[in-house]
Amino acid sequence: MAPLIDLYDHTREQLRDRLEQWELNPVHVARLWNYLYVEHVTSTEAMTALPSKLRARLNEMVVGTLSTALETDSTDGFTRKYLLSLHDGQRIETVLMRYAGRVTACVSSQVGCAMGCVFCATGQMGYTRQLTAGEIVAQAVHVARAVQHAARSGPSARLRNVVLMGMGEPLHNYDAVMHAIDILRDNTGLSLGADRITLSTVGVVPGIVRLAKENRALRLAVSLHAATQAERAALVPVARKWPLDELMAACRTYSETTGRRIFYEWTLIEGQNDSPSHARAVGELLRGLNAQVNLIPLNPTAGYAGTPTHHAAARAFQLILAEEFKLPSTVRQRRGIDIAAGCGQLAVSAR
Ligand code: SAH
Ligand code: SF4
Repeated sequence: MAPLIDLYDHTREQLRDRLEQWELNPVHVARLWNYLYVEHVTSTEAMTALPSKLRARLNEMVVGTLSTALETDSTDGFTRKYLLSLHDGQRIETVLMRYAGRVTACVSSQVGCAMGCVFCATGQMGYTRQLTAGEIVAQAVHVARAVQHAARSGPSARLRNVVLMGMGEPLHNYDAVMHAIDILRDNTGLSLGADRITLSTVGVVPGIVRLAKENRALRLAVSLHAATQAERAALVPVARKWPLDELMAACRTYSETTGRRIFYEWTLIEGQNDSPSHARAVGELLRGLNAQVNLIPLNPTAGYAGTPTHHAAARAFQLILAEEFKLPSTVRQRRGIDIAAGCGQLAVSAR
């Protein structure tokens, strides 16, 4: 079978190059791009305003390769999870979240994940393969299209944010993820600017250094979970490869060279990393850094027996960060837990 050529794999410039190769007028790229990223059409047949010569060429290509296997709405009324099938039969999950009238797509970057964090359902399933840039872009368009359809009957809304916090470790698929971000950012398409795309990493040190060097316009989140090497390695096995001191040095370089804040994620597990002394340890670790802490009470997964920290203890943790260290923090709202769409719950079961 000939490999599928996916239109979502192309930046606008790359599509222009293709038109030039085909000796067609590149002026049509604007209309094509509009079909893909403003109207969110699902097939080349629907692109009726394009010249027939161009449409004949485009018919050899596909508009994404994803199909919906299952769609589940949470009883919280804010969260929807999509189980999506890829062209080779592999499956991934994508989540649509509505916060304060804003729509966010939580997209996957890999089928499974190789990093093996003990409390994460994706880590528990292991790694299968990388996603292509087109497969990452297609997830965002899928959500944008769903929102556009819903807006016809309800309040108008559009996709505002993309978070690379679904299945997989985005910096373990660096090139495809950055290519996808270039496409998502295009200001005549989905137009997701620097502050609207958040990439969360488990702490792949070479990837963070590269992000700093390339001065990529995005919001960076780093999954910390512990403030000592021993405690972190027990939760995040790859901490043995990229130790905490090297991670913090890379984070410092990133913030210094880009001038950007880093969001440090901390999954709160009762009795493990949620005491006042843990709060003080993270406060010390992040002293002097341009930092914000995102606290995420543990979500249940089949392979890990921990308990989420109670609200009062999370609040006490936050107060220590604020009062003793002037460190801003948020406690992530628990959403979509009934449909296993919360942080770290994505795996491919047809729940
Ligand atoms: N691979 C990336 C992004 C995906 S996970 C990363 O690890 O950063 C997004 C966030 O959810 C990470 O901070 C991750 O540590 C956290 N997470 C994983 N499993 C979780 C769970 N069971 N409960 C709460 N948060 C979890
Ligand atoms: Fe992979 Fe992130 Fe899950 Fe760790 S928390 S296993 S890096 S997806």
